[in-house]
Amino acid sequence: MGSLVSSFFQNIRFYRSLRFRIFLIVLLIGTIPAVIMRFIMVRGYENRALSQKVSEVTNQSAIVAAHLARTDYFSDTSDPVINDELTQMSNLYDGRILVINDDFLIIKDTYGKSQGRYIVSAEVISCMNGSRNMWVTDDENRYLEITVPILDETTGAVYGALVASASTDSIHDNVEVLGRRARIVEAVIAVIVLVIAYALSMTLLKPFDKVIRAVDSVKEGFDPGTESIEVLDYTETKDIMDAFHHLMSRMKEVDDSREEFVANVSHELKTPLASMKVLSDSLIQGGDSVDAATYREFMLDIAEEVDRENKIINNLMSLVKLDGNETAKMNLEPKSLSEMLKQLIKTLTPLAEKSRVELLYEEKTDVTANIDETKLSLAIMNLIENAIKYNKEDGWVRVTLDSDLQFAVITVSDSGMGIPEESINRIYDRFYRVDKSHSREIGGTGLGLSITRNAILLHRGAIKAASIVGEGTTFTVKIPIAAGEAV
Ligand code: ADP
Repeated sequence: MGSLVSSFFQNIRFYRSLRFRIFLIVLLIGTIPAVIMRFIMVRGYENRALSQKVSEVTNQSAIVAAHLARTDYFSDTSDPVINDELTQMSNLYDGRILVINDDFLIIKDTYGKSQGRYIVSAEVISCMNGSRNMWVTDDENRYLEITVPILDETTGAVYGALVASASTDSIHDNVEVLGRRARIVEAVIAVIVLVIAYALSMTLLKPFDKVIRAVDSVKEGFDPGTESIEVLDYTETKDIMDAFHHLMSRMKEVDDSREEFVANVSHELKTPLASMKVLSDSLIQGGDSVDAATYREFMLDIAEEVDRENKIINNLMSLVKLDGNETAKMNLEPKSLSEMLKQLIKTLTPLAEKSRVELLYEEKTDVTANIDETKLSLAIMNLIENAIKYNKEDGWVRVTLDSDLQFAVITVSDSGMGIPEESINRIYDRFYRVDKSHSREIGGTGLGLSITRNAILLHRGAIKAASIVGEGTTFTVKIPIAAGEAV
């Protein structure tokens, strides 16, 4: 039972295959015309042969009928010339001739059987009434019957009718022979087409087998390089393979960037650990000779490194939470951005004061937008923190809020060191820092802007940076006011 079911499904697979379809199409295209040809030829011959016979017998009958009309045959049927003529004609057509007078009485039958009987057939009646040249065929008994009137040549009066039947045996025999031959030709064509259809279905689809083998080999772990598995036989197979290579290189890119990320993460996490190791090792090696003040200083450094490690881990956690639109769950609510920004300014003022940077807030109009407050706060906070961190002494940071019809526009400008042009597109990359040592010195992890960008993209917003080295930087953030509805 199981094998039956599985063989059924295998068969379905076969019937659905392009190979089977090509085979079937070629087979049908090859054989159907042959069948139609046979039909047309045999029918054509039959019709032509029959109409030839009809006209031949009709002509002959008309001649005999005219002859009859000129003689006195209706009163005396013993005229040997006429009788001879009738017998000859019936022999010629392997048939029978009846002569009927205007009382529907058969006055002559070349078979001699029906003489003296009456005949009332539809053809004879309509013939007496003036119709010409009636004919019917009887396929079963294989004959055709022609009824012609016997007319007075001058007055046109109807004396009677002549019914001539002729055998159609020879036509039927010919049709049979012709049909048989056509069927043989048809069978030969069918065999040839079958072979061609099979060969075509096998060869035409070979390149697709190559494609499948190539894809399979990659599935099994074979790394094909880039060009080694081209299938150039058809445009289509080339396109499939191109698309496949494209997909592979995309996957490789994703893989590479993941690897790079993991490498970066380990490197970043190791740096504080290495510092701690150096600090603690030197304390251990110093032994008793190390005084309390040095101990204290080193322990403070170690605590700082622990803080940094903690910060990197926290940032990584935020990044993972914000990464990828599917995984990040958005908690959208209508919120006043003015309130949110004021709160951020309040939180960050101590940091600004510590760095001797003036923190300003300007608001053209308050905007209520559909936002995830935690995520957007974090994003803007990173921007303001950076503006303070990468500033100069007695510098300023200005945060503004404005809106156009669809977007809330937040800018964070500073009077800081600026970002070189070649770095401006890379600052959102994870762990990217313009000046590594400086950034680390002031506690940067290189993750802040990637977190910011991800959070803004989750709001379907946009972020742009403009900067002049030595003068300052402006980050412009646009958030759709109805972000929640747009999703
Ligand atoms: P970090 O934790 O190092 O600050 P970010 O991702 O927040 O990492 O920023 C990436 C880099 O972009 C920073 O290291 C810094 O070099 C540069 N940067 C960011 N904001 C500013 C700014 N306001 N002024 C100058 N440089 C900046």
